[in-house]
Amino acid sequence: MSDFTPLPVEQTEDQADLRAMVRELLADLATPERLSDHDEREAFDEDLYRALAEAGLVQLEGEVGGDAPSHAGQAIVLEELGATATSIGVSLVVQFMAVTLLSQHGTAEQRERYLSALYDGSQRAAFALTEPSGGTDVARAMQTKAVQRPDGGWVINGAKMWISGASDCGFMIVLARTSPIERSAVSGITMFLVPADTPGMTVSEMDTVAIHGLSTCEVGFADVVVPEEAVLGDVDRGFRQVIATLNGERLNAAAVALGIARGAQDAALDYVQSRHAFGRPIGGFQILQHRLVDGAVKIEAARGLLQRAARVADEGGDAETLSAMAKLASSDAATTVTEHGMRALGGSGLSREYSMQRFWRDARLYTFAPLTDEMMHNFIGEFYLKLPRSF
Ligand SMILES: Cc1cc2nc3c(=O)[nH]c(=O)nc-3n(C[C@H](O)[C@H](O)[C@H](O)COP(=O)(O)OP(=O)(O)OC[C@H]3O[C@@H](n4cnc5c(N)ncnc54)[C@H](O)[C@@H]3O)c2cc1C
Repeated sequence: MSDFTPLPVEQTEDQADLRAMVRELLADLATPERLSDHDEREAFDEDLYRALAEAGLVQLEGEVGGDAPSHAGQAIVLEELGATATSIGVSLVVQFMAVTLLSQHGTAEQRERYLSALYDGSQRAAFALTEPSGGTDVARAMQTKAVQRPDGGWVINGAKMWISGASDCGFMIVLARTSPIERSAVSGITMFLVPADTPGMTVSEMDTVAIHGLSTCEVGFADVVVPEEAVLGDVDRGFRQVIATLNGERLNAAAVALGIARGAQDAALDYVQSRHAFGRPIGGFQILQHRLVDGAVKIEAARGLLQRAARVADEGGDAETLSAMAKLASSDAATTVTEHGMRALGGSGLSREYSMQRFWRDARLYTFAPLTDEMMHNFIGEFYLKLPRSF
């Protein structure tokens, strides 16, 4: 084991307490054997998720009738999960998004029905936006349609793709086109709350190489009838209402990616001290050591941006550029640290006995989700550097 002591990270005592509580819980429950077993079996760890929800980690300081939890709090929980039970962290990113959308746009009845179930862990949400025809330009590509019925309610037809946790969720937030594109593609789309057992819905799991502890699914809608009360937020303004929360989702994606980087860095650090070559620990070789140093700097820099963005967002400021930067820095930390980790482990990198290969595979997710790193570059170029739009 390494003697490495990380730099102090927290900005407040409450945040330090929250991190300590999550770490303690995960140290008890998320053992390496358990994590590896669920990854191998490609199974969601229902019991671990339930234990986290029961410890208040979905609700945090949020309330059924009030605000969503703070960005800083969400980031702490998600970084800790990213470093351990990564797939559960990915699921929690979706749950926090559902909590935010319900808190901001839900009616009293919707909050009571869905938020309570999310908070106590009895149900999970899936968020169904992406379609087979494209994710980045999804508003223009969207084929899923909802049409109002003359006697009330809506009928949804279409298909969604890559939907996390759709095979075992309680309900989905589904985005569907409700008016044709006129001036802007982001108008004319509405959010619907659709219970998973609604007739006409089909869910099939996709075969992916990563995030094995959470299903990734195709979802079909064939004449799915939902009542008027299924509309979440405003008719035709759903995509805009989702965009307004994307900042938070970027921060949360950044937090899981940062966790992946940290988990991989810790695993590499342990390995280079126990493995010997040429009569000394391989951590004594300059090239491996320098890569670990680069990893440490990337992790600290990404966390600095993430905490700054979360603080500005929690204070009600404009955190869009900082969040995009935090997402890029964290995704870079995750892919670089896992790549270097794989190199440090030599042949053992490919062994399923070690967690490194899982971190290496899982690190790919947040290079393109919820929005691709290329689009983050586009955003920063246009809105921060004020360069001409690149697309
Ligand atoms: C495991 C997993 C889980 C997921 N979970 C969910 C979920 O729960 N809900 C959901 O709705 N979606 C989910 N997604 C979908 C994810 O959000 C999309 O994959 C992502 O938005 C990218 O869309 P795409 O894959 O269609 O890529 P495309 O849009 O086809 O993009 C392909 C490439 O083109 C580039 N590109 C496109 N436009 C531009 C441009 N203007 N400038 C520069 N480059 C550009 C992209 O950056 C990318 O490199 C998930 C995906 C995976 C794999």
